Amino acid sequence: MKTNAFVLIFISLLALPETKGHQGLMATLFVQKSAEFYSNSIGIYNSAMEKLPALVEDKNYTAALEQNSGFSGKPPAVILDIDQTVLDNIAYQARLIENGRYYPDGWDAWCMEEKAYYIPGVEQFLALATSLGVEVFFVTNRTANLEEATRNNLEKLGFSFSTKLDQLLMKGEKPEWTSDKTSRRQLIADDYRIVMMIGDNFGDFVSLDVNRSSTEQRNDAAKAYNEMWGHSWFMLANPTYGDWESAFINFDYGIPRSKQLEMKLDVLDQQR
Ligand SMILES: [Mg+2]
Repeated sequence: MKTNAFVLIFISLLALPETKGHQGLMATLFVQKSAEFYSNSIGIYNSAMEKLPALVEDKNYTAALEQNSGFSGKPPAVILDIDQTVLDNIAYQARLIENGRYYPDGWDAWCMEEKAYYIPGVEQFLALATSLGVEVFFVTNRTANLEEATRNNLEKLGFSFSTKLDQLLMKGEKPEWTSDKTSRRQLIADDYRIVMMIGDNFGDFVSLDVNRSSTEQRNDAAKAYNEMWGHSWFMLANPTYGDWESAFINFDYGIPRSKQLEMKLDVLDQQR
């Protein structure tokens, strides 16, 4: 009897979720609680607002790699990612830690609550874009089943969608709208001159094959666009997740978590 009780306690301890030592703790605290994250985010959007008017004026400029010619007469548009670029889901990350879980556990349910706040600075940016007559497009890898909830969330925050065009382009909404955002940028480029792009993941700017490459290749590719960063491409800091992290595990999310941790430890560099 006594032994059985011990065995039961032992088994239930093993089954405890990984709350202690959750890999997301530090990054989540940074985004949710630090003055440093707030300042960084506001700074990025302040810079974007400073740059926007001149980019709108310069009809010979496009910020999209997908746009090569015939764009000078088209009306201007900006493309923003949604998660950790426009909407702040850090409360969802906090829940994962509290419950010892990892994405995508509970993700759809969180989105359906429609209660994410704006990332600091984005509200002012959206207002400026609208006042300059710039069309706003959201290109997100939230899945199509979350479109209504996402729209409602943004409307609750005060964003007003056009009744004439689809500004919210979800993954899977059309068969060709895959995780690669290229086809959606191309579609927007058909009718608009893309003057600026804002995201928190390299894939918000470049194609999937560049984004989903090794850490070294991603860094080399980022360096090839030095003239874009802080000019017409603006990257928000997201230390909680992203393809920067997936690159350490070769984009194979099926690898057991303990092995993933090992792979991350393996790439730490003690020399530089
Ligand atoms: Mg994002």
